[in-house]
Amino acid sequence: MIHELESVFGIDAAEEATGSSSIFEERESNVRSYSRSFPSTFTSARGALIHDVKGDTYLDFLSGAGALNYGHNHPSIKAAILDYLAEDGITHGLDLQTRAKATFLNEFSDRILMPRHLDHRVQFPGPTGTNAVEAALKVARKATGRSGIFSFMGGFHGHSLGSLSATSNRQHRAAAGIALGGVTFMPFPFGAMAQVDTLAYLRAVLNDTHSGIELPAAVIVETVQAEGGVAIAPIEWLQGLREICDDYGIVLIVDEIQTGCGRTGPFFSFERAGIIPDIITVSKSISGYGLPMALTLIRPELDVLHPGDHTGTFRGNQLAFVAATAALGVYEKEEIEAGTAANSVLTQELLDSKILPLDARIEARGIGMIWGVEMGAIDPTGGLAASIARRCFADGLIIERVGRNDTALKILPPLNIEAEQLADGLGRLAAATRACLEG
Ligand code: PLP
Repeated sequence: MIHELESVFGIDAAEEATGSSSIFEERESNVRSYSRSFPSTFTSARGALIHDVKGDTYLDFLSGAGALNYGHNHPSIKAAILDYLAEDGITHGLDLQTRAKATFLNEFSDRILMPRHLDHRVQFPGPTGTNAVEAALKVARKATGRSGIFSFMGGFHGHSLGSLSATSNRQHRAAAGIALGGVTFMPFPFGAMAQVDTLAYLRAVLNDTHSGIELPAAVIVETVQAEGGVAIAPIEWLQGLREICDDYGIVLIVDEIQTGCGRTGPFFSFERAGIIPDIITVSKSISGYGLPMALTLIRPELDVLHPGDHTGTFRGNQLAFVAATAALGVYEKEEIEAGTAANSVLTQELLDSKILPLDARIEARGIGMIWGVEMGAIDPTGGLAASIARRCFADGLIIERVGRNDTALKILPPLNIEAEQLADGLGRLAAATRACLEG
C-alpha cells in the first residue's frame, strides 16, 4: 500500500518519517492551510477515525470542519451512493429536474422543513458554503432594493468576495486585495463586547438619522460563531434580533453552514430560540458524506430572482442529493439528536473534570457537539493553543483552533462518535494541555 502511494504521491522514506510530503510543498499552492496544521498524508477513514500512509490512526475532532457530522464513510450513506452509481444514475445535471433531486426535495421537505413549519423555497447555489451565502445576500438585496448588510464582529461567512465582505477576520479580509464594502459590523454579545447591550446599539443606529448607517437589506448572523471562537448567542438575544428585523423590515439571514444538521442539538441551531429566519444558509454536513452541497432556503415572498439570475454549471450535485437523502434517514433512524445530547453532557463532564482543573484561567463553552476550550487568558497570542494542538496531533488527535488569535481549541467530533472515543480524545486533549502548561 505504502509503495503504491509513494509512486502516486512522490512520498519518500524521509518524508514518511516526518509526515510531510514534498509533492504538496512543491506543487500545491501556498494557500493550503489545514494540511499545515495536520502534516500527514491521509488514506482512509471510518467514523471518527482517520488513517495515514504511515499506518497511524487519528481521532478526528475536526470532522471536515463540520462537513462530517455523521462521521467518515457512513455505511448506509455509502451504500446509497454505490447503488446509485451502479445503476448509472445521472451524476451531472446542471439544474435539470432529476429523480435524485426530486427525492431529496421531497425528503427534506417532509422530514426537516414541514415539521418545523418552514415554507422556505430551496435554492441550489454553487456547491460550497460561501456560495449559499452569496446567493442569500443577492436575494436579500434584490428583494429589498437595498444594498447594505449588517454582519457581526467575529462572524465568518466564507471567502468569496460577497461573503468575505461579511466576514470579520482582518487577515482573511486583507487577502481580498480590494476594498470590501457594503457591510457594517455590529457587536456580537461575546468577549470584549459581552458587556455592551448590542441590541440596544443596533436599534440606536437604525433610529438615529445621523448614525451615518443606512437601513440594511439584511442582517446575517451565526447563532453560534464557530470560527469566531465558539461564541454562543443567548436565546433572548436571537429573539431580540428577530424582532428588530421585523420592526425595520430587514431580512434575517441565519448562517447554519457549520451549526446546522444537528451540530448544536436540533437540526437547525436557531430552533433553540424559537425564531424563523427569512433566509437560511446550509452546507457542510447536509450531504452527510462530505460531498459538496449547499442550500439557500428562502421564504417564498423573498424568492425574487428571475430564472437564470444566479445560474451556473454545478447547481445541484446529484451524488450529494443521493447522499443527503440517505443522511436524512440516518439522522432520524440513528436518533442523532439524542446521541448528540448525550455526547454533549459527556463532553461537559470531561471538560469539567479533566481540563478545567488544570488551570483556573482555562474556560470552556459549548452547545451540542461544538465546544471551545479557551486558552486566551493564559496566552492571548495563541501560542499555547497552537502547542496543545500540535501535541494532540503527535498523540493521534486532530483538533483545530479558532477565535481571536486562534486561542481556543475547537472540539468538533462526529455527532455520533462513540462515548469511549470521545472520552479517549478528551483524555488526549487533557494530557496535551497538561504537558504544555508544565513545559
Ligand atoms: N459560513 C460559516 C458559518 C462557516 O463556518 C463556513 C466555513 O467554515 C462558511 C460559511 C463557508 O463555507 P465554505 O468553506 O464551504 O465556503
